[in-house]
Amino acid sequence: MDSCIFCKIVKKEIPSEIVFEDSEILAFKDITPVAPTHILIIPKEHIPSLNNLNQSHKEVVSDILFKIKEIAKDMGIHEQGYRIINNCGKDGGQTVDHLHFHLMAGRQMQWPPG
Ligand code: 5GP
Ligand code: ZN
Repeated sequence: MDSCIFCKIVKKEIPSEIVFEDSEILAFKDITPVAPTHILIIPKEHIPSLNNLNQSHKEVVSDILFKIKEIAKDMGIHEQGYRIINNCGKDGGQTVDHLHFHLMAGRQMQWPPG
């Protein structure tokens, strides 16, 4: 998707601090971190939101969750704990229409979220 900022990050047209990359997944630091560790994990394929998932996406979504666990371990945050967030749609607070999961850690998270 030409106008999508995360597709541009995937294509390296916009710089980002990449923490993991394979053929299907990219993980990079959020430009406006709200926690000491704040990583975005995305499928390289342009999927607008969780609402747009279909059967063909099952493997990449499962791989993303598995990779999040590995990134958390590599970054040494797995024992202290972390939070995974997907904002979906307007009321969910989604601002970039390319499916992404926030991985946040390094401080005590609050519940309920705002
Ligand atoms: P959402 O609000 O859609 O759940 O999350 C979008 C996230 O993308 C926000 O946390 C925002 O800071 C981040 N973001 C937006 N534009 C860029 C960018 O150009 N580079 C990076 N690294 N993060 C971005
Ligand atoms: Zn995209």
